[in-house]
Amino acid sequence: MSADLTIPDIGNFSDVEVVDVLVKAGDVVAIDTPLVTLETDKASMDVPATIAGRVTAVLLKRGDKVSKGSLIARVEGGEPAAALAPSAAAAPPAAAKPEGAGDTVRMPAPQMDRAERAATDHTRTAQLLVLGAGPGGYTAAFRAADLGLKVTLVERWQELGGVCLNVGCIPSKALLHAAKVIEDAAEMSERGIAFGTPQLDFTRLRAWKAGVVAKLTGGLRVLARQRKVEVLRGSGRFVSANVLEVTGASGAQRIRFEQCIIAAGSEAIRLPGLPQDPRIIDSADALEVADVAGGLLVVGGGIIGLEMACVYDALGTKVSVVELTPQLMPGCDPDLVRPLERRIRARYQQILLGTKVVGIEPRADGLRVAFSGDKAPEPQLFGRVLVAVGRTPNGNAIDAEQAGIKVGARGFIPVDKHMRTNVPHIFAIGDIAAPPMLAHKAMHEGKVAAEFAAGHKRAADWRVVPSVAYTDPEIAWVGLTETEARAQGTPFKKGTFPWVANGRSLSLGRDEGFTKLLFDPDSHRVLGGGIVGTSAGELISEVALAIENGCDAADIGLTIHPHPTLSETVAGAAEAFEGTLTDLYVPKK
Ligand SMILES: Cc1cc2nc3c(=O)[nH]c(=O)nc-3n(C[C@H](O)[C@H](O)[C@H](O)COP(=O)(O)OP(=O)(O)OC[C@H]3O[C@@H](n4cnc5c(N)ncnc54)[C@H](O)[C@@H]3O)c2cc1C
Repeated sequence: MSADLTIPDIGNFSDVEVVDVLVKAGDVVAIDTPLVTLETDKASMDVPATIAGRVTAVLLKRGDKVSKGSLIARVEGGEPAAALAPSAAAAPPAAAKPEGAGDTVRMPAPQMDRAERAATDHTRTAQLLVLGAGPGGYTAAFRAADLGLKVTLVERWQELGGVCLNVGCIPSKALLHAAKVIEDAAEMSERGIAFGTPQLDFTRLRAWKAGVVAKLTGGLRVLARQRKVEVLRGSGRFVSANVLEVTGASGAQRIRFEQCIIAAGSEAIRLPGLPQDPRIIDSADALEVADVAGGLLVVGGGIIGLEMACVYDALGTKVSVVELTPQLMPGCDPDLVRPLERRIRARYQQILLGTKVVGIEPRADGLRVAFSGDKAPEPQLFGRVLVAVGRTPNGNAIDAEQAGIKVGARGFIPVDKHMRTNVPHIFAIGDIAAPPMLAHKAMHEGKVAAEFAAGHKRAADWRVVPSVAYTDPEIAWVGLTETEARAQGTPFKKGTFPWVANGRSLSLGRDEGFTKLLFDPDSHRVLGGGIVGTSAGELISEVALAIENGCDAADIGLTIHPHPTLSETVAGAAEAFEGTLTDLYVPKK
């Protein structure tokens, strides 16, 4: 039987350029084998085969322009895909779905193509094996390949990108953007422009979010292929200090490696003793936005919980937050959290601090949640409960002891400044290595490990790791915090600029933010900084750069910042410290 392989629906694109043709007549393709690479001005994407068989003719060449329905190739003897599972980039990926216990992030089962299957029949070798394709793992793999190493990247999920791309940073930020649009529109109604009540189409919202993710994960596939990084789908566990066993769709195979970088990430923590009920969800489930009748209780007032609360609140859900410690966003300076707390206390149903969830009883009309603590309320009914109480590293889930790798009590794998474990040819990076669990820290460590593995002198520097909560208002901090400085007895002086005196902030309709910088009292060098307000996450990079480069207050204050911008508040904080600020009147002491 002969069949045509055509370009599927590629979103709003037409006349897209073919930049690579990956098959030729005579090739045998499996379902999901990449056929051509397309490139728009926004992304590269592989178009996979939807029918397996022998290619009899390829009907496209490099440089051709294609749209939905254009003929790619003809195959013979093919079997069609049972369901046209969208490939990474050509269309939004299947939603993360539950697929057995143990994985926080539930993705479709890996599908091996024929080449992969053939390769599983015998044991293979790798110069550098990277376990886990999250931001740490793919960065390490790509950098090592660029430095000339032969790299095998092992990943248990169908898509590359790990938690960050698939069910973390990226989809959450897409939804937070949607939330911001709703909020901005609502606020403008008091300023003379009314848009009316938003009409929410959750299916389209989810599809848009999935499309954003797919562009990035599809891009990773292309980048891996361009660098000749071999991607092996399956779940890895150590058998010895030089062998990893990978169990995939077609069974197990062993890979002998010279060096290995463990980048196996983390899982959401489950609260013990909670009943099994689909209405009790984690962050991955929460990203599959739904209309939550009966209200949402977010258990955990950390960054992830508060970001999801922000999304659901904007979408019209009644939100409550319960946090065990006395402060929202533990670890962040309390003064930075206050503007956020003020805003959400006025919007959310309740914020319970110093309060513990002690039981959840599933009932037909909702989840009955019991609390304990000095100010604990009586049990209450909620439509859903989002458990966002932190993440635990996967150090105990990869049989690390078989390789002689030391794993700490909480599941982190201790490393030195080169990211080496106690077994010198095995590295660990990202969430599995140490907190803070942040994508940019994982990427930094991925580069360090790859470069050291390739023989370069390289060490990690964790002095400047920015943290950002993409809430409304955003909160960001970097370097030394005031809380740490006081706890350690580190001397510091502070310069603060309130955003009520910033024209750009006022023209955005917001006045609650502020920027603060901590300085060494003798050298006046920047030690740390914190920002709360619109786009704080973007602004914090200037403070990070200042610390990294040993800038002092004058360096920042004398740098001409564009006006009117929020970035002026960083210069303003430095000037406030120096006593040269003119935008506010600060009486001389
Ligand atoms: C909702 C949410 C929002 C977030 N937002 C942000 C943010 O805005 N900014 C930020 O910096 N961070 C954010 N994070 C945290 C960020 O996602 C993580 O810090 C980052 O993904 C860690 O990268 P990693 O490479 O260490 O591990 P991961 O991204 O967890 O990747 C690990 C990979 O290893 C694979 N793996 C694990 N075990 C095995 C095995 N045995 N065999 C094969 N493969 C395996 C996994 O499938 C996964 O793909 C967020 C997290 C969540 C949950």
